[in-house]
Amino acid sequence: MTFSPKQDTANNLTPRPEITEEAKRLIDETFHNRVATLGQLVRIPGIAWEAFDPANLDRSAEAVAKLFEDTGVFDSVEIKTATVDGKPGSPAVLAHRSAKNGKPHVLLYAHHDVQPPGDEALWETPAFEPTAKDGRIFGRGAADDKAGIMAHIAAIEALRDSQGEDFDLGLSVFIEGEEEAGSRTFRAFLDENKDKLAADVIIVADSMNWAPDVPALTVSLRGNVTQIFTIRTMEHAVHSGMFGGAVPDAMIPMVRVLASLHDEKGNVAIEGLKSVSFQDLPYTEENLRKDSSLLPAVSQIGEGSIMDRLWGKSSLTVIGIDYPSVAVSSNTILPTASARVSLRVAPGQDPDEALELLQKHLVANTPFGAEISFGEFETGKAFLADSSGWSSKLAMNSLSAAFGNPAVEIGIGGSIPFIADLTEVFPDAQILVTGVEDSDSRAHSPNESIHLAGLKNAMVAEAVFLISCNQLQSS
Ligand SMILES: [Zn+2]
Repeated sequence: MTFSPKQDTANNLTPRPEITEEAKRLIDETFHNRVATLGQLVRIPGIAWEAFDPANLDRSAEAVAKLFEDTGVFDSVEIKTATVDGKPGSPAVLAHRSAKNGKPHVLLYAHHDVQPPGDEALWETPAFEPTAKDGRIFGRGAADDKAGIMAHIAAIEALRDSQGEDFDLGLSVFIEGEEEAGSRTFRAFLDENKDKLAADVIIVADSMNWAPDVPALTVSLRGNVTQIFTIRTMEHAVHSGMFGGAVPDAMIPMVRVLASLHDEKGNVAIEGLKSVSFQDLPYTEENLRKDSSLLPAVSQIGEGSIMDRLWGKSSLTVIGIDYPSVAVSSNTILPTASARVSLRVAPGQDPDEALELLQKHLVANTPFGAEISFGEFETGKAFLADSSGWSSKLAMNSLSAAFGNPAVEIGIGGSIPFIADLTEVFPDAQILVTGVEDSDSRAHSPNESIHLAGLKNAMVAEAVFLISCNQLQSS
């Protein structure tokens, strides 16, 4: 059963100002303690990579489960794992409370595992010691994604304190413990706990806002295709002094086929790929040059706005070539060359279809009749949110109200692979990818941090959203 709000003025999807005021007051009163709790979580180095102590993930899951238990609003709070290929995954926290009186059910996602600290010498403050500086809290996981957990906790408690413990909204919580290690058991966890996770709306609090004071909803992620292929011109290598000039080495057709993947202007030249357009945002060529370290004399590639090229169009990168390295090279005409290319595909494009188009292009553009064969490939699905859903509208309006600036829709040029699992297991759910991070958070890098004013606004926005959901009338 899917919730849809009744179409009348009471169900206007703009939150009432009283709700925003109340949420602001409730979040304000508790914010100091939230930051302290965030600090306690940062001190637990729960890393799901093989080389790290899994006991920290247990401690981390226990600390997070206790936070959700202490809200007092759930019928069940459990620490669970799913097992794939005989190997259990990292502990996740699963909490549930049923919806009543025809109200919607909302699933809140975040993850409690973090990236390894990396080179500790590059940290200006200790990686696992929360440190306040310049209006930010520094520490591994302070942003990604322990801030997401704290946004959920703060929003749930504001909902409870505003609407009373007996509120009607259904709530599930899924705090994963292995996101940074590739979400190995994510799909199995969804399948095994489908009953408790099923929801009308899924809030994935693991993306970013456009700026500390400009909120964003992430409405699209590009998909990805990688393909290894080999080009062959002879049965075996021959002396370049004997046959050079009449017989092509494998690199001659290889560089030509690779060059054919972009047109003169640098657009991806593979026929039939899709693209979508984004609202233009203040991001200049200067920003792009600085952020990417592009050399002054080197031009950008591709046509269209920067946002469209980074988020809405395909991009192709040659990510590896097998051919002798310079150090061991000799005067030989070589018979084979291999390459791996990575094709990021536009939201809305089926990656299997893109893979086929890529292969077709490579075959058609390999010159001199050289043989081409395909090796390993990988595909990852793109994501394109349905911004016309009631929950997207309510979320955009809640964000705008909380931050005092209009929310923007953004894309991500990369992917969050587990989003595809969510859409497959819960095809009717509306997925809202929200942000706690901001453009300076440096997730995954040394000196990760969260902007405190931005975090507070993210908490208010989620509280406004949940309180408003609890007041919606079903159609
Ligand atoms: Zn994350």
